[in-house]
Amino acid sequence: MQRRTKIVATLGPSTDDPAVLREVIEAGLDVARFNFSHGDLDEQRARLENLRKVSADCNRVVGVIGDLQGPKIRIRRFQNKSVTLSKGDKFFLDPSLEDFAGNNEGVGVAYQDLHIDVASGDILLLNDGQMTLKVDRIEGTRVHTTVVIGGVLSDHKGINREGGGLSAPALTDKDRSDIRFAAEVGMDYVAISFVRSAEDVREARRLLEEAGGKGKIIAKIERVEALDCIDEIIEASDAVMVARGDLGVEMGYAELTGMQKHIIRRTRYMNKIVITATQMMESMILSPIPTRAEVSDVANAVMDGTDAVMLSAETAVGRYPVAVVKAMSDVCVGAEKHLLARGRTSHRLDDRFMEVDEAIAMAVMYTANHLDVRAIIALTESGSTTLWMSRIRSDIPIYAFTPHDATSRRVTLCRGVYPVSFTIQSTDTRLLYRDIFSTLLSHKLVEEGDRVIFTKGDLDGVSGSTNSMQIVEVNTSI
Ligand code: PGA
Ligand code: MN
Repeated sequence: MQRRTKIVATLGPSTDDPAVLREVIEAGLDVARFNFSHGDLDEQRARLENLRKVSADCNRVVGVIGDLQGPKIRIRRFQNKSVTLSKGDKFFLDPSLEDFAGNNEGVGVAYQDLHIDVASGDILLLNDGQMTLKVDRIEGTRVHTTVVIGGVLSDHKGINREGGGLSAPALTDKDRSDIRFAAEVGMDYVAISFVRSAEDVREARRLLEEAGGKGKIIAKIERVEALDCIDEIIEASDAVMVARGDLGVEMGYAELTGMQKHIIRRTRYMNKIVITATQMMESMILSPIPTRAEVSDVANAVMDGTDAVMLSAETAVGRYPVAVVKAMSDVCVGAEKHLLARGRTSHRLDDRFMEVDEAIAMAVMYTANHLDVRAIIALTESGSTTLWMSRIRSDIPIYAFTPHDATSRRVTLCRGVYPVSFTIQSTDTRLLYRDIFSTLLSHKLVEEGDRVIFTKGDLDGVSGSTNSMQIVEVNTSI
């Protein structure tokens, strides 16, 4: 069985060896994530060149996400790299304190408005929630706190406020220059961190377009503020990421799973793509097998309908980058076997469609799920028809036949959609069928006599013009 759920894996030092990267790709990598929080642009550029070369060598299409660092609020550095804080200790945070001046009493913060955004009684979480401080009072720029949960606090650790509300704008100067880089090197998706509103997403899109980028925009849902306008954010985005690391810190982890399910459901309903991210196989950073809890986490996200599951440190810096992709892939396939895929969908059943192509896509899926159909083939310029199709649950593969490499790479993120490079040579129906059948057969995607459905528009080369579906039997003697 062909896996439908896609695997996003973060590239890093652990995948830089071309031989390892090749194994990672062969184990099932669909989309590579470049994390702009680590490494400089020369490093990213070299990594991207390596990916393009290795994926071409093994004849695989791999999509690329550039994930912006965003305004993660961080403490500055200590005199001696770290301090140990215990429950009850007094500790201050102060935007006016310089880098390398931190000690047992307090540390600088690289966010000028910290003292304005917080109030006494607030809970501040450091190092992804590992340590907790309670704000006692504010004096000038100095935020005085008492340690609630102690530990070792080291240079540059992140700060979140419980309940959200540290309101740094979503796009920093570094993000703006990273967007220009993503445009220049042709990344397929740009992920925006700490999105607060739909306007943040629109601004990122404007910047990417101004820089000549053709990529799509992913909104990372990791702030409490984003939850209040989640529909507007989904609408403004091409895809969203349930960024459980920061989101779990800000909203607390107790309701995180419910929120994850809600975001997956809304995003699919609104015909957009959804990625579930962070700590999915965390223990495999150091261990060759996943815990049962991790297996269950990945399987549940698959059963809930996520388009993709994501690996972060597991592949970027972990010990078992190949084994973790293989394990994740196996769990996805295992979970997909238990889905009742066909014939049961209520996706947009009561809605009116605004676009002819969406209506065709829905008709195809309804038909395919109620007939014996081996494959769905969409002749597509932009890939949007296949996105609409894939919002309906099915176990039938959807092949995006497209002449454009950018479309091929983009659909790698979409559940159940697989790119096939194809150029229409003739608009004569018989010749077109013959070309499609021979392409399908040469890739061993169907057999002679299989029933397939395909969709196309009247005019080749015009985006968004799919207006017909055909149900045919594969027959090479035509
Ligand atoms: P990050 O985003 O890994 O860039 O922080 C994902 C998350 O917060 O879960
Ligand atoms: Mn994050």
